[in-house]
Amino acid sequence: MESMDLKKTKYIRLAADLQTDSIVDGPGLRTVLWTQGCSHNCKGCQNPQTHDFNGGGLVPIDMVLEAIDELEYQTGFTFSGGDPMFQPEACNIIAEYVKKKGMDIWVYTGFTFEELMELSKTKPIYKEFLKNIDVLVDGRFILEERDLSLLFRGSRNQRLIDVQKTLQNNKITLVNETEKSEVEEKFFNKNIPMYI
Ligand code: SF4
Repeated sequence: MESMDLKKTKYIRLAADLQTDSIVDGPGLRTVLWTQGCSHNCKGCQNPQTHDFNGGGLVPIDMVLEAIDELEYQTGFTFSGGDPMFQPEACNIIAEYVKKKGMDIWVYTGFTFEELMELSKTKPIYKEFLKNIDVLVDGRFILEERDLSLLFRGSRNQRLIDVQKTLQNNKITLVNETEKSEVEEKFFNKNIPMYI
C-alpha cells in the first residue's frame, strides 16, 4: 500500500498467506488465517514452524482486509496457527471485518475457554474477541488423546464450543455433532458439500 502511514498501521504476524477453499478447518468452504507464534509446545504438533514469535512475517492488517475483500464463494473464516490468541487485538480487528462480510468465524486455540475468560479479567480484548467468534476449538493438542475420527479437531480433550451461547448462558455449550439441533442447523447445514 503506497500511502501507508507506518505509525498508524497495525500489523499481524502470519505464518502463511491467506488460504482459501479449506474444507477441514470448520464447515463449508473456508478461508484460513495462519497466525505465527505459539508457546504451548504440544507434543506432536503438526505446525512447529509456526511456534517462533519472531518467525513468519509481519503483515499490515490493512493488507489482510484487502485480501478479504477479494474473497469469493467462502462461507466461513477460520483463525488458526500458531495460536491466534497470542495476537488478540490484531485478530479482533480482522474478525470484526469478516463478520460484516457475513462469514461465520471459527478460532483454533491451545488455550481453554476457561483460561481465556481468566485472561480477559486483566486483558478485556480477549472477551471482545470472543464476542466475535462463533465456534472456538479449544485446548492443547494431546498426542495420547489423538483421535482421527473427530470432526475438525485432533484430540479428544479439544471442544467445539458455541461461543455466543456459552457467553449468553455463562455455561460451556458445545456444538452438537450428532444430533439435529439449532446449533447444528446454523453451522453444519450449508448448501455446500462440507465433508469428504
Ligand atoms: S496450540 Fe496448536 S500450534 Fe500451538 S503447539 Fe499446540 S498444536 Fe501446535
